[in-house]
Amino acid sequence: MNNLRPAESEASLLLIDGKLVPGSGGVFATHNPATEAVLGYAANATAADMDGAITAARRAFDESDWSRDHGFRARCIRQLRDALVAHTDELREITIAEVGAPAMLTGGPQLEGPIADLGFAADLAETYSWETDLGVAEPMGIRTRRTLRREAVGVVGAITPWNFPHQINLAKLGPALAAGNTVVLKPAPDTPWCAALVGKVIAEETDIPPGVVNIVTSDDHRLGAQLAEDPRVDLVSFTGSTPTGKAVMVAAAASLKKVFLELGGKSAFIVLDDADVASACSVAAFSVCVHAGQGCALSTRLLVPRSRYDEALEATARTLRSIRAGDPSKPGTVCGPVISKKQRDRVERYVGLARAEGGTIVCGGGRPAGLEQGHFFEPTLITDVSNSSTVAQEEIFGPVLVLLPYEDDADAIAIANDSPYGLSGSVWGSDPQRVKKVVDGVRTGTLSVNGGVWYSADVPFGGYKQSGIGREMGVAGFEEYLETKLIASAG
Ligand code: NAD
Repeated sequence: MNNLRPAESEASLLLIDGKLVPGSGGVFATHNPATEAVLGYAANATAADMDGAITAARRAFDESDWSRDHGFRARCIRQLRDALVAHTDELREITIAEVGAPAMLTGGPQLEGPIADLGFAADLAETYSWETDLGVAEPMGIRTRRTLRREAVGVVGAITPWNFPHQINLAKLGPALAAGNTVVLKPAPDTPWCAALVGKVIAEETDIPPGVVNIVTSDDHRLGAQLAEDPRVDLVSFTGSTPTGKAVMVAAAASLKKVFLELGGKSAFIVLDDADVASACSVAAFSVCVHAGQGCALSTRLLVPRSRYDEALEATARTLRSIRAGDPSKPGTVCGPVISKKQRDRVERYVGLARAEGGTIVCGGGRPAGLEQGHFFEPTLITDVSNSSTVAQEEIFGPVLVLLPYEDDADAIAIANDSPYGLSGSVWGSDPQRVKKVVDGVRTGTLSVNGGVWYSADVPFGGYKQSGIGREMGVAGFEEYLETKLIASAG
């Protein structure tokens, strides 16, 4: 770990108004969740630093050509992509160490995927139809040419979680900048380095003008609330838990700013009775262990036909028992640690609740033997609870799967929809007509059919119900960062 810097004097810096600066609040420690050791330190911003960042972003938006020069923005975003590619090794090392992300995921959505996806955002800045001619009409007898123009919203406050920091930070920065906005990014306190290194690259290796991107690390969640509240911010782009998303919406309401919320999930993996049940259940079990279950879109409820329950139980438990939580830096590790002691305590609490509600812990349920250091948790299967139980209704965010039997396809759809969330899910079956009926019935933002992969720069991602408002990525994600201006010219 040559690049890691466990000294306060080597703390990462804030990016405010084009300059890399220390935090007024000193520094705070960032930890390695696989060892619990202090990795190093990050600048600890205060409310005054956040105020400076918002001031800089506002000035850069109001007083520069950034929002109008589409070609320049495309060039800057490609420059950022290329600079991040050149730093891939350093970023990979930090991502594994700070996030506990399995190394294998850094070749995809934990690092290299989102860096490459900046190219999609850059292309949009150049190719998007910023103006549309709506033609001439004569409303109220006045001959008028109508031109529809899309423009940047203004200053974007981006607030992000720790589970896929590069994916989420860059999936906000890329489209927000491509659309012509300026940004204040407040990353999660658990993963400040992932964001701070992007800030350093922006300051030192790109032509992105001062104030266009500001990155404010802090151990104080209230800086997120400050960003959501400040009337100089035009849009809050938030990814995180549903309760925090609600608080962000309330804070943003005072100045009636746009909110774009990517929140939690409790997605259903539906196995129809004409599927290869054992194979499908193995896929479901494997998936819930990826990054120790810390993915908002992972399917954490496995719905199987009651007629095939024993077979499903056997296959699911076999796969979960075969996956060992372990060192994320090893190439074969799928299930690393959860991010913190707080998060592992939360997972343990939910397993206790399952027991209290009459559930059976078929496998896992605790800390893996022989791993005394690190926030590891065993892949866990819970059965004998109903869909109304706490563990089937609430997001756990650990490698925990709840197995639920259903009676027929309609019952499977009803159980899948009996959730406050609607983020993602999966359907497995061999009859396309039956699969289609289930796809039509499930109220969720993305659905995988027989293992199809929806994650891609051009695909919008987001939730129904309490999983969020709006879409990230794709053209729809880019358009979240745009306003609409209609120009009506007489004559
Ligand atoms: P969190 O809600 O605790 O924190 C997210 C961010 O909000 C952090 O930066 C935090 O500092 C900030 N914050 C905390 N309180 C705030 C407040 N009152 N006002 C403004 N900002 C505040 O979430 P987390 O624990 O960091 O991340 C895990 C959650 O994120 C899970 O619920 C997961 O499902 C969700 N998530 C959703 C998606 C998605 O795309 N839908 C993606 C990843 C994670």
